[in-house]
Amino acid sequence: MSHYQEPNAYIFGPCYACGRGFVFNPHRVPSYDPSLDDPSKPAGRQPICSTCIVVINERRKASGLEPWTVYPDSYEPVHISEL
Ligand SMILES: [Zn+2]
Repeated sequence: MSHYQEPNAYIFGPCYACGRGFVFNPHRVPSYDPSLDDPSKPAGRQPICSTCIVVINERRKASGLEPWTVYPDSYEPVHISEL
C-alpha cells in the first residue's frame, strides 16, 4: 500500500512573443510554430504566455480572425503521467 502520489511537473520556458519565462502545460498552452510563416525558422511549437495571448487575440479579433483558445489549465503544471 502506498500513498505516494506522482508529482506535477512545472514546465518552464520563455514566451515566444516577449521572452519572459513562465509555467505552462505543454498540451494546453496556446502556441505558435514560426516555421509556418517563415520556413527559415526551425519547426516547432513555441509557447505564448498569458499576457501576450490577450494582446495577440485582441489583434486577431480586430483582423477578423478566430482568437486562439486559452484553457483554464493552459498555465498550470502538468501531471507527470501526461508528459
Ligand atoms: Zn509573452
